[in-house]
Amino acid sequence: MSEKMYQLAIIGAGPAGIAAAVECYLLGMRDIILIEKDENHNATIRKFYKDKKRVDKDWKGQTVELDGNIRFLDGTKESTLDFFDEILEKHSVELRTHTEVQKIVKTGDDFEVMIAGGSVKAKHVVVTIGRMGKPNKPDYKIPTAIKKQVAYTLDSCSEGEKIMVVGGGDSAVEYAVDLCEKNDVTICYRRENFRRANPTNQKDIAEATENGSVRAIMGANILGLEAEDGKVKVLLDEGDDECYDRVIYAIGGTTPSAFLTSSGIEIEDGKPVHDENYETNIKELYVAGDITQESGGSIALGLNHGFAIANHILKEKK
Ligand SMILES: Cc1cc2nc3c(=O)[nH]c(=O)nc-3n(C[C@H](O)[C@H](O)[C@H](O)COP(=O)(O)OP(=O)(O)OC[C@H]3O[C@@H](n4cnc5c(N)ncnc54)[C@H](O)[C@@H]3O)c2cc1C
Repeated sequence: MSEKMYQLAIIGAGPAGIAAAVECYLLGMRDIILIEKDENHNATIRKFYKDKKRVDKDWKGQTVELDGNIRFLDGTKESTLDFFDEILEKHSVELRTHTEVQKIVKTGDDFEVMIAGGSVKAKHVVVTIGRMGKPNKPDYKIPTAIKKQVAYTLDSCSEGEKIMVVGGGDSAVEYAVDLCEKNDVTICYRRENFRRANPTNQKDIAEATENGSVRAIMGANILGLEAEDGKVKVLLDEGDDECYDRVIYAIGGTTPSAFLTSSGIEIEDGKPVHDENYETNIKELYVAGDITQESGGSIALGLNHGFAIANHILKEKK
């Protein structure tokens, strides 16, 4: 294991992590490492965005002015990934993939970032591990026989299936509208309307339900799932249980509390405690991106957090 001392180690190569790396690089820092558990950067975008998905800068209607140097614009899943490929290529940031960080330990003035079989040493650390590493799952048990038909992304979907999408936010609506082109789709949401989704998605789902491409079951709670003749039987509190080929949950993600607490980062109301510069209770250890948000978060917000952290490390503290 290398004994190299990095100036900066960033845990998680999503938008916030890439921004922290690139903004620090632009302010003159070298020896920066981005550590990513997946096979490439931006695992959330790769796994949870459907192909050709429209990517909005002002996600969920939150208008965000970009503070930093990364000029991110509206686009698609593919153009957004190309954009991040390009900016990583242009700035010499070391990206180490297939490496899951277990925890961070402060040893004297420096950090040891613990990974399988060793550690990476760094002067500063930024944690940007997002919330989608652990997508929210239902409270009830999923019977083993149907586990493969219950998913949290669209990866396993094919064509001509009867599918239930569970949830009513932007992800659920986008999944339902996308899937209905080639499948028989029902969306099930515990509220009575789709007001949590952005205006474009609200319009899309209204059209799809009006023209019959998507059936909506609103104000209903799922009590559990059962296996029946190779299908997933969905048990609703309102009765009318029905069988589906597949059920997709799009109900958000969870703060990775165990990771944060094992690294000594204080948590309050489900979020890591940090000051206005995103520095935690541990000096030189920062948090950014979705993990700092109660829910939601966006690419543009993550980019701004990365810029703020770079400024704090390289300008304000000098
Ligand atoms: C379906 C869907 C659609 C969305 N659409 C939009 C949109 O149109 N516009 C928009 O602005 N936002 C959108 N968002 C939100 C946006 O994707 C997030 O706000 C953004 O990705 C958060 O960036 P982040 O860097 O904080 O975390 P993430 O993007 O979640 O990145 C975290 C990274 O950390 C890695 N990681 C996690 N744990 C570890 C570990 N222990 N060790 C090493 N690596 C680790 C993960 O693999 C991942 O690559 C959408 C989200 C979803 C789910």
